[in-house]
Amino acid sequence: MEVPFLSLEAVNARHADELKAAAARVIDSGWYVLGEEVAAFEAEFAAWCGVRHAIGVGNGLDALALLLRGYLELGRLAEGDEVILPGNTFIASFLAISANRLVPVPVEPDPASFNLDPAHVEAAIGPRTRAIMAVHLYGQLADMPSLHALAERHGLLLVEDAAQAHGAAWNDRRAGAFGDAAGFSFFPAKNLGALGDAGAVTTDDDALAQCVRALRNYGSEVKYQHRLRGTNSRLDELQAALLRVKLRYVDEDTRLRRRVATRYLDGIRHPQIVLPSVGREEAHAWHLFVLRCRHRDALQRHLLACGIQTQVHYPVPPHRQPAYAGLLDVHLPLTERLHEEVLSLPLSPTLADADVGRVIAAVNAFRSPA
Ligand SMILES: *Cc1c(COP(=O)(O)O)cnc(C)c1O
Repeated sequence: MEVPFLSLEAVNARHADELKAAAARVIDSGWYVLGEEVAAFEAEFAAWCGVRHAIGVGNGLDALALLLRGYLELGRLAEGDEVILPGNTFIASFLAISANRLVPVPVEPDPASFNLDPAHVEAAIGPRTRAIMAVHLYGQLADMPSLHALAERHGLLLVEDAAQAHGAAWNDRRAGAFGDAAGFSFFPAKNLGALGDAGAVTTDDDALAQCVRALRNYGSEVKYQHRLRGTNSRLDELQAALLRVKLRYVDEDTRLRRRVATRYLDGIRHPQIVLPSVGREEAHAWHLFVLRCRHRDALQRHLLACGIQTQVHYPVPPHRQPAYAGLLDVHLPLTERLHEEVLSLPLSPTLADADVGRVIAAVNAFRSPA
């Protein structure tokens, strides 16, 4: 009996009847792109996040890329402008920036929270800096009050990569409602997951919302009239209908994720393992439970031998990927060390209590190589 890292089959099986009914509704409607389901999901997701607008797009990378493109169209960003972001993020955060001929400027994170450290952000602000991209990594909100103050002081845009943090909250405000705009992913493994690729932009900015709405649909607001050189990145009716079902359960799922994480935090005791630090409980949506261990590879092998699947998020930081060879002179020793030490334990709303106990016992029994 294995403890899976994440069983999407188990996650979706809980709602199989409702999901199949939603899919049948779309199939029978004969309307598959930009229709009632997308409009309804956009309204429901915007209300849930506490923002005026949600715009459904093809995936999380497009959400981030299109919101930045929107700021270029509105004249708030220009090619060559710098965007500061954490060096230890998933590469999509970088790709969204470089796809718009903007320049990603990675900085060291706070190793306790894995999120942007406002002091490092401030030190990286230069004459070409125009935006900060906060990534709520592993599901925990970045320090948005400090970053907001910093952005105000320096006249910068503050955008959120909220792909891992659906529902993470601070004083009743949710991820996606802290910055000028945010990008969400609904990739199947995310906390709110479609059954395929999907994403959304959230914002309170009417002009940006209108622009992104056009950009996702060939730059068009009226059929066959093209104000902008847009793209085709639309959330489809089928995924929207499935997401409307899943949205009704995401708060309960976050509670279940939090319960697993709390058991790990209480149960794991090991001199060579650093547990993730948590600020306010509601500020963490627990997309991933990521610990640090100097003997990470040995720990991963030990857990596998115990039948426990783990993953590494992420093995190589973006600035050390061949795709970013231009950043080879960037040195982020802390980020690089984190990538050698992080290990993600199984975490999902369907993880059985007994399996959580097995993981805790196996981690505590780890004996590091001499
Ligand atoms: C998943 C993810 C993305 C990209 O989302 P996709 O839907 O996979 O394109 C962007 N940023 C972060 C932090 C992510 O985890």
